[in-house]
Amino acid sequence: MFNPIVFNEDVCTGCNICVDVCLMEILEASPEKGKPPIVRYPDECAYDGACWMQCPQREKGAIKIVPPLPMRVSILRGEKP
Ligand code: SF4
Repeated sequence: MFNPIVFNEDVCTGCNICVDVCLMEILEASPEKGKPPIVRYPDECAYDGACWMQCPQREKGAIKIVPPLPMRVSILRGEKP
């Protein structure tokens, strides 16, 4: 299954800010304290970037948004979604 959000568990602190800000509620806190969230509903990601923007560890690469291939091609072509 395609995963729109990838966490780097060496950097993510498991603060769950990304879980709280996701309007689509696709993320769920890990049952293990300090571990990255679980992407519970990957198909419902809106790719709005709220999780990435609010992550205090984003500069260190804790969280990455991976758009599906057709969306990446559109971005490269400069097309509006
Ligand atoms: S990805 Fe960022 S916001 Fe989400 S739990 Fe990890 S450190 Fe916190």
